[in-house]
Amino acid sequence: MTAEDDVAPVAASSITSWDHEADVVIVGYGIAGAAAAVESARAGADVLVLERTGSWGGAASMAGGFVYLGGGTPIQKACGFHDSVDNMAAFLNVAMGPGADADRIADYCHGSLAHFDWLTDCGVPFKPEFWGEPGWEPPGDQGLMFTGGENAYPFNTIAEPAPRGHIPQMTGKVAGEKSGGFMLMKPLIETATSLGVRAVYDVRAQALIVESDGRVAGVLARQYGETVRVRARRGVMLAAGSFAYSESMIKQFAPGIAGRPAASIEQHDGRAIRMAQALGADLAHMDATEVAFLIDPQQTARGVLVNGLGQRYVPEDMYSGRIGQLTLYRQEDTAYLIIDGDAQDDAMAATSATPFLKRPATWVCDTVAELEAEIGLPAGSLQATMGAYNEAAARGEDPLLHKKPEWIKPVGTPVGAIDLRASCGGFTLGGLLTSLDGEVMHVSGEPIPGLFAAGRCTAGLSAWGYASGVSLGDGSFYGRRAGRTAANS
Ligand SMILES: Cc1cc2nc3c(=O)[nH]c(=O)nc-3n(C[C@H](O)[C@H](O)[C@H](O)COP(=O)(O)OP(=O)(O)OC[C@H]3O[C@@H](n4cnc5c(N)ncnc54)[C@H](O)[C@@H]3O)c2cc1C
Repeated sequence: MTAEDDVAPVAASSITSWDHEADVVIVGYGIAGAAAAVESARAGADVLVLERTGSWGGAASMAGGFVYLGGGTPIQKACGFHDSVDNMAAFLNVAMGPGADADRIADYCHGSLAHFDWLTDCGVPFKPEFWGEPGWEPPGDQGLMFTGGENAYPFNTIAEPAPRGHIPQMTGKVAGEKSGGFMLMKPLIETATSLGVRAVYDVRAQALIVESDGRVAGVLARQYGETVRVRARRGVMLAAGSFAYSESMIKQFAPGIAGRPAASIEQHDGRAIRMAQALGADLAHMDATEVAFLIDPQQTARGVLVNGLGQRYVPEDMYSGRIGQLTLYRQEDTAYLIIDGDAQDDAMAATSATPFLKRPATWVCDTVAELEAEIGLPAGSLQATMGAYNEAAARGEDPLLHKKPEWIKPVGTPVGAIDLRASCGGFTLGGLLTSLDGEVMHVSGEPIPGLFAAGRCTAGLSAWGYASGVSLGDGSFYGRRAGRTAANS
């Protein structure tokens, strides 16, 4: 192990002078760090943020910007959707599982309306306009979208479908380059700055500094080749993101996404998790990952998705992130989208924020039998699938997987297929186990004194499933909570 890799705690008694001091020291100035900074400062704490890069923002500022909020927000109401706290919880308890934490979900859903108000009070703008097309993001500045399959089977039978992906309004958006996440971060940082929060950039937290009684007293960091010692009078809050870019941790905990951290940044190296582990911190859901399915959902909804056995396994109008998880983990990362010329033309012409994800057919054949052979599927498998699909589609039905009628149409010939093998990529969702107040839990079941965390270095709402907006949602929600707890400790 090199000194760079060393995360062992440092005894406070060995520190002879401090380079910086504050009541609350926050590691990382992305979404969880910014929310914590605002709330900590409002609770009267002197707050210092240590950020590894040259500016605030993190992955959050590059993000699409969805924040998962519900229970009847003003945006939901203005767009004509009914929702309630119980309805939102009913969806999340199923969609975030298996293993979803019902207490955390109840807590999050109960606080969701107040969290919407908190964000807008900080200046985050949401436009009351709904985007109802399949897609990863709305193409314009629309403020609301379905982002978890709430309106797809089986979720539409479990809870009343309500869109909960709230996107900050932004002009001149370019998906994946300049998206709503920036408009989430900017007002939060401005709010934090106006409250007197200080930030030091280009400084990388390396290890925690600990008193002899086990209380976390500060952070040892590196800046421009020098060691920096930072004292935290009330608490240290870890908000440094996931382990998506730690090759060794991915290999150890989430090998399914090895080599493909789709929506993340290199600074998500898992160090904060390891710094806390070195103090005995407990972990949860380390195998859970978001999985993007890299094709425009406008195509998926219009086609028939089959696995390596030529069989359907998910309604094609499902949230793309869930299709990604089911494909990567349950179908050995193998999928083919069967689509005819008319459906492909319609999908190519459809408005989308991600036209770069529209994919041409890999194979086109005169018959399904030829296509089956061309792809290399077991003889008769695709023919059986398409025969059954087309027979029911002629009646406008999908008795097997319940795709919504608006997307059901018999597939004609010539018929094409898009090769979607190895088209999944993701980021990690597991991390430190925390209390609902943001305390980092020791393996003994007790909180580690003086140590708090939120965001993707913690295990949040998602135990296995995912919905877009859950990361910025639980990161900002529990960032606030942890910041307040730290300030009051
Ligand atoms: C393209 C893209 C689109 C996305 N879209 C969405 C979306 O629409 N909705 C959603 O919910 N999620 C989305 N995500 C995921 C979401 O952005 C992240 O999960 C979220 O930002 C995590 O919050 P965080 O505070 O934990 O990390 P971040 O927001 O990344 O903040 C962590 C900060 O910690 C800093 N840091 C790391 N290590 C150290 C260290 N040792 N010392 C000091 N600082 C350190 C980093 O530089 C970073 O600034 C998207 C991500 C990407 C990249």
